[in-house]
Amino acid sequence: MPDGRDLSTPTPGYEATNAGPTPKTDSDSAGAARSGPTEKCGVVGVALDDRAASRPLYYALYALQHRGQESAGIVTHDGFQQHGHVEMGLVGDAFEEGDLDSLAGETGIGHVRYPTSGGVNASCAQPFSVSFKSGSLGLSHNGNLVNADEIRDELAQLGHAFTSDGDTEVIAHDLARNLLEADLVRAVKRTMDRIHGSYALTIMHDETVLGVRDPQGNRPLCIGELDDGYVLASESAAIDTLGGDLVRDVRPGELVVLEPDGSGFDTYQLVEQDNTAHCFFEHVYFARPDSVIDDTLVYEARRDLGRALWNESGVETDVVLPVPDSGRAFASGYAEAANEGADGDAIEFAEGLMKNRYVGRTFIMPTQDERERAVRLKLNPIKSTIEGRSVTIIDDSIVRGTTSRQLVALLREAGAEEVHVRIGAPPIVAPCYMGIDMASREELIAADRSIDEIRDEIDADSLGYLSVESVAEVLGESRLDLCLGCVTGEYPYDIDGEETDRDVQRPVIDTDSEPARADD
Ligand code: SF4
Repeated sequence: MPDGRDLSTPTPGYEATNAGPTPKTDSDSAGAARSGPTEKCGVVGVALDDRAASRPLYYALYALQHRGQESAGIVTHDGFQQHGHVEMGLVGDAFEEGDLDSLAGETGIGHVRYPTSGGVNASCAQPFSVSFKSGSLGLSHNGNLVNADEIRDELAQLGHAFTSDGDTEVIAHDLARNLLEADLVRAVKRTMDRIHGSYALTIMHDETVLGVRDPQGNRPLCIGELDDGYVLASESAAIDTLGGDLVRDVRPGELVVLEPDGSGFDTYQLVEQDNTAHCFFEHVYFARPDSVIDDTLVYEARRDLGRALWNESGVETDVVLPVPDSGRAFASGYAEAANEGADGDAIEFAEGLMKNRYVGRTFIMPTQDERERAVRLKLNPIKSTIEGRSVTIIDDSIVRGTTSRQLVALLREAGAEEVHVRIGAPPIVAPCYMGIDMASREELIAADRSIDEIRDEIDADSLGYLSVESVAEVLGESRLDLCLGCVTGEYPYDIDGEETDRDVQRPVIDTDSEPARADD
């Protein structure tokens, strides 16, 4: 079991633990200002031949830092026992040299987290560990279950004690219970047949590392090959960081089992579904541009989305500016399409907004007035690029509208004659239940406003979004193979009180009796 403190009340056959992270109160305290949707976790797992897993895991977590800044953790296994270290904060702050040295073993999993379910607290930091009668489990989870409460209620009635209100612990307990009665592959299948929602998991059962992607492939997970082993990671950029080669994406509904000696991997297609539900926002915003997800380089996808944006709602202005950093690839594709075949003055593509690189994604803004002016801390306009000119700014999304309003005001103050706003995604009209902090319906500026009303609110001369059809076309997927819940209000999962865009039903969990067993 991990070498941290035990946070659980022992239950018959199970013991849930984590490594006792220390909560921090800085970046995510009340009043912190966030401008965009926030990703909720990155996962990694490695199995190596004759090399400690801790440092490759640490470097991979660095590569995945953009997917979660709340906590970071690693659990390894040395063939005899688990070792774990989980801390609140960034990867660079969470581990010291001695921590990595103490994480013995050539297999392990890691996690960076931004809280999805379970709130901001140390007990939800991951990897989550459970030791049980026939071994140990570690779990790293990206995504969000929509039926975790039902399964937790059922397991609680059966005597399981939970140390957090997060859904990852629910998966861990369910899998541990199934492992008492079935082999590894059947146990994972049984758990997959009971959980409903979004999950990309790296799991460690004793020294064996597994990867699992939910049957609709909502969140990304890929396999990479190293000189001396294999790696599973949320994004291929983590594989690149380790000097490895991307083998392929883990398929929706697939279980990948890495050989503990790093010599290869086995795969099992445990669940098949007609359609996928890839989160289109991975390509639009969350993932690193240098990652390849579901066979598409994110950078190229964003450039193509920018090109489509010009074709749908391009406006002739003197200059096109990206909102750094997320709008950059969109703006370059947009400007390139704008200038194709242009025989007059070409539209200039310029970096007219300089980013303060020492301001993180979040910072403390105690008052509304200070929050209103937060953009000035992050971005400074280059006057000579803007003054006396018509300007188009390109961004990936508008959530609450606060940042867009501030940006338009900033550009007008810098002397822009016209400010046009173009967005490389459709309007966000509904929340996300699959693991992204998208804000509530009440907070979303597009939930109950027309595009003209939003344009007025942010005081732009014009506003254009990309259509859902163009997003699907650029990503090369049918609408029914994408999750578009936050831009259509219709979800690919069975969620209480929400519409679904497909024939989907969540598993029946009988909270009054023994868990139902799916056919193996
Ligand atoms: S609702 Fe939006 S952010 Fe959430 S998984 Fe679906 S597409 Fe992604």
